[in-house]
Amino acid sequence: MRLELFLDFLFGTNCRLCGHPGDYVCSMCEANFIPDSFQSCPHCGAKNADGKFCDSAKSNLHGSEKSDGKFCGREWRNKDDGVDASGGGENEDGGADTHDGGRNNDGGVDTSGGGCAPKFLFDQLIVSMDYGENALLRKTISLFKYDNEKKLHLLLSEPMKKQFFGLKHTIAGQKNILFVPVPLHKKKLKRRGFNQALLLAKEVAPKNLLDCLERKTYLSDQAKLAKTQRLKNLKGSIRVKEDFTNFVKNKSFVVVDDVATTGSTLNECAGALKNCGAKYVCGLVLARVR
Ligand SMILES: [Zn+2]
Ligand SMILES: [Zn+2]
Repeated sequence: MRLELFLDFLFGTNCRLCGHPGDYVCSMCEANFIPDSFQSCPHCGAKNADGKFCDSAKSNLHGSEKSDGKFCGREWRNKDDGVDASGGGENEDGGADTHDGGRNNDGGVDTSGGGCAPKFLFDQLIVSMDYGENALLRKTISLFKYDNEKKLHLLLSEPMKKQFFGLKHTIAGQKNILFVPVPLHKKKLKRRGFNQALLLAKEVAPKNLLDCLERKTYLSDQAKLAKTQRLKNLKGSIRVKEDFTNFVKNKSFVVVDDVATTGSTLNECAGALKNCGAKYVCGLVLARVR
C-alpha cells in the first residue's frame, strides 16, 4: 500500500467519490472502474479487438498502400462546438475538459483527405473505459484534474494498465516500448501543479517512462477560437525535447493521456515522434469522449 493511502487508512478518511467513511476510494466505487471489453477504430468507431484503424482508413492514410475501398463506418463526431464549461476558457492540454461535465474540442483531426482517410499519425489507440455513460468516471476525472485530488491517479491508472497489458496482438506484446505522457505547457503545469498524463504514465509503466515531449505554444482561450484557428494553434505546438531527438529513432512509443476527444493531441504527439524517426506510436487513454 502506498504511504499516502496507508495514512488515510490509519487516520480514517471518506471516499472522495461517494463520501462513505473508510477508504480514500471505497470498494463500491472502485468496482466501477473496469476496462471495456472491446476497442474501436480510432477514426470511425467501428468495434474491433485492438484499437487499430480499419484497413481502408489505414491504407488511405499512407496513400501508397492498397485500399480495399471499404468505408469503415461513421466518423467520430468532429465537434466544433467545444465551449469549455469549466470557466477556465482554455483547453491547451488537449484532452476533453471535463470540469463540470463540460466537453471540449481538442482541435479536431483534419479529415479533408476524404472518406475514411483522416490524417492520423498514430497507429493504434487503446481506450480503457467508456466515458459516455459513466458519470462516476467523469466525476473522478474532474476531481483528479481540477479539484486537486491528485491521488486519484492511483485509481484511474488501474483500468489503463489492465486494458493495455491485457490486449493481445498489440504493441503491448513488444519489447522495449517507451511510454510518453502528453506534455502540458509549463504555465499550465505551474497552475495545476502536476501533469495528469505523467502521473498516469508513471503508474502504467514506471520502468519504461520517457518524458520526451514538450509543448511550446501556450494556447490561451483555445476554446473561444474558431475551429480553423484552433487547428492552426495545435499544429507544431508539441515537439520532442532536444536531448531526445536522436534517441527516438526506430523506437516504439505509447503516448499516454487521460482523455481524448477527436485525437488531434495524440496526433500532434505522434507527428513529433515520427518526425524524429519513431517507428510506431500507440495512444493509450483512460477514456475517449464521443
Ligand atoms: Zn465510494
Ligand atoms: Zn474505421
